Amino acid sequence: MSLYTTQELKIYNSLSKQKEVFKPITEGFVGMYVCGPTVYSNVHLGNLRTFMSFDVIYRYLKFLEYKVRYVRNITDAGHLESDDVTEDRFAKKARLEQVEPMEVVQKYTVDFHNVLNTYNLLPPNIEPTATGHIVEQIQMIEDILKSGNAYEVNGSIYFDVVKYNEKHHYGILSGRNIDEAIHNTRELDGQSDKRNPQDFALWKKAEPQHLMKWNSPWGEGFPGWHLECSTMSTKYLGEQFDIHGGGMDLKFPHHECEIAQSVACHGTAPVHYWMHANMLTLNGQKMSKSTGNYILPAEIYEGGNSVLSKAFSPSVVRFFMLQAHYRSILDFSSDALEAAEKGYTRLMEGMKLLGSLKTSATSQVDMTSWKKSCFDAMNDDFNSPILIAQLFEGVKYINQINDGTLQITAADLEILKATLEGFVKEVLGIESTDNNQDSGKLNGVIEMLIMMRNQARVDKNWALSDEIRDKLLAIGIQLKDSKEGTTYLIQN
Ligand code: AMP
Ligand code: ZN
Repeated sequence: MSLYTTQELKIYNSLSKQKEVFKPITEGFVGMYVCGPTVYSNVHLGNLRTFMSFDVIYRYLKFLEYKVRYVRNITDAGHLESDDVTEDRFAKKARLEQVEPMEVVQKYTVDFHNVLNTYNLLPPNIEPTATGHIVEQIQMIEDILKSGNAYEVNGSIYFDVVKYNEKHHYGILSGRNIDEAIHNTRELDGQSDKRNPQDFALWKKAEPQHLMKWNSPWGEGFPGWHLECSTMSTKYLGEQFDIHGGGMDLKFPHHECEIAQSVACHGTAPVHYWMHANMLTLNGQKMSKSTGNYILPAEIYEGGNSVLSKAFSPSVVRFFMLQAHYRSILDFSSDALEAAEKGYTRLMEGMKLLGSLKTSATSQVDMTSWKKSCFDAMNDDFNSPILIAQLFEGVKYINQINDGTLQITAADLEILKATLEGFVKEVLGIESTDNNQDSGKLNGVIEMLIMMRNQARVDKNWALSDEIRDKLLAIGIQLKDSKEGTTYLIQN
């Protein structure tokens, strides 16, 4: 009997705005789609938080022994700053950096994978790209045109929100009152081909100088951003599937448009459970590339950002982020990371004792009910902070058993051990102490070498200081000197 049959998982559905008992379309199987990154620049720590939220959701579903198909796309074409510009983000970056758009895509896709790997996120089962699904997107546009919910102007195709809203409800997910918006929006200034400002592009005509373009029944062009997710989720998960996720800021217009496209094309709402992860903030403001208010994931372990008092390990960041519920806003600060590091160390120290605890003939603690409370926490809309509080209860038991103030049977100790290891490693994806200890020792050795090099420089012993730098570099450890001191990067 699979574990999920014994658990009642509840998920907060952004569509109904309440927690609902999770019932997949096909028993035992879950189809989950999460909007992936737009690979025109490095992902920041905020992006990482959203992907980590869904990583833990994916991990828990797997832990419950569901067979999960997790699809997360790569947006490598078609993400316009707005529908009224003619250049997408990749083309713009390629023009600025004087490279091929696909070089931009490749560079930041590699960066994205490295970051997720470093922070111990599991890869999805399918990672489709927008550029790899142009044929399917053109087909979907043709179907939407046939349904009467889109129109062509000068080689571009727009979704007709007003027409769609006559029979369906545009605004069903975001709660926006579109009728009001339509009546209150001033006339377009004539620069747009759209009939209404609320309409959105399914296909954009490409200007002759445009680099990323494809042939279509409407001439050369490229797909709109919202379309790729509808097309690829349908292709890999079906016209209806279980879970669709993304950051809160994608609810409107991106996910609202996805619903409209699918309803227009297939006649049915595509998603049973819409899930939205909340934002990571820095100084109380959303982390975002465009405002410059962000931290890069690599800066955390390199320690190369003035916001940070020191470098932190990726496991500490995982622990920090998972101490907040995925639907709560989380504010980033060095102090908060330092506090998380203390909690993380306490958890790891406790788990290290697990192998050496003595057992007794009787138990003074009910491990089955403690184990149940760990499941209950995650069953309540993936409440990782409550789970972590329960894991600390487990650590408290360990310390008491270790002190000899609490007795436990071998069978109960086995439950304690398996539950802690299962939830910490498999569900939360927090790495074991051993790896961390090794990396702690490595960091200590590097810091010692940096100190020796500093002394060599003070002594004007340039040969030795260069030798330390070059020999470290030869084994993949790069030293970086700046006004604030020397930091290092351990290359994978
Ligand atoms: P993008 O590459 O801009 O499409 O963003 C990738 C993912 O990161 C999306 O799901 C966004 O909603 C999410 N995201 C963007 N900024 C933040 C933030 N400050 N905190 C959490 N998630 C974010
Ligand atoms: Zn999407």
